[in-house]
Amino acid sequence: RAADMYVEMKDICKQYGSFKASDHVSFGIEKGKLVALLGPSGSGKTTLLRMIAGLEAPDSGDIFINGQCVNDLPASKRGIGFVFQNYALFPHLSVFDNVAYSLTIQKKSKEEIIYKVQKILKAFHLEDHVYKKPSQLSGGQQQRVAIARAIISEPEVLLLDEPLAALDFKLREKLLIELIDLQDKLLTTFVYVTHDQFEALTVADHMAIMNPYGKIAQI
Ligand code: ADP
Ligand code: MG
Repeated sequence: RAADMYVEMKDICKQYGSFKASDHVSFGIEKGKLVALLGPSGSGKTTLLRMIAGLEAPDSGDIFINGQCVNDLPASKRGIGFVFQNYALFPHLSVFDNVAYSLTIQKKSKEEIIYKVQKILKAFHLEDHVYKKPSQLSGGQQQRVAIARAIISEPEVLLLDEPLAALDFKLREKLLIELIDLQDKLLTTFVYVTHDQFEALTVADHMAIMNPYGKIAQI
């Protein structure tokens, strides 16, 4: 095992019925890098992310985070943030409460929550939308809220599942640049899933390309 691999997958298999969503997938992600996972729709990208996050268990194979096998570690203990394909914000909560969510769960003090949420909302240009509900925001704003919510608890790894897929081209380009800046500042390990070659080439330090049948074709 290379010492600087932060997330490592070893011979992961995952099948749904007779369909192989992951077919002997092995690859490592270096600490602090941004890795793009590029592949067509249905190639098993989301399945892989869900297994790294602990939302899904592999049929066989091992996942290591920081050298520790996490196969039996629940999602909440893995130190991983997840930005889902469709943002999945809590519709009944305000922007503030969405972003504060993980800190609230961890029972942080009210002062700390207000301080951290205000700071991050400012950094994400959301300070004028603090009390709005997700339905009152544009797609780009919802996407920023989703990322702010995922990084506020300072995860070691941030998984982004086609985070810009629902946005138009101009906005995607702008947010891509914001994401690269953010990753530079945080030094967090990012795994960025996309089916878009332009996005992958723009953001990635390293790139893993999946074939349509759950295999890594090239790294
Ligand atoms: P991608 O994110 O690359 O589009 P997914 O990982 O979502 O691919 O899905 C890969 C394949 O596995 C798809 O054919 C999908 O229908 C199937 N699949 C994913 N999740 C499930 C599930 N919970 N039950 C059954 N089939 C699933
Ligand atoms: Mg997907």
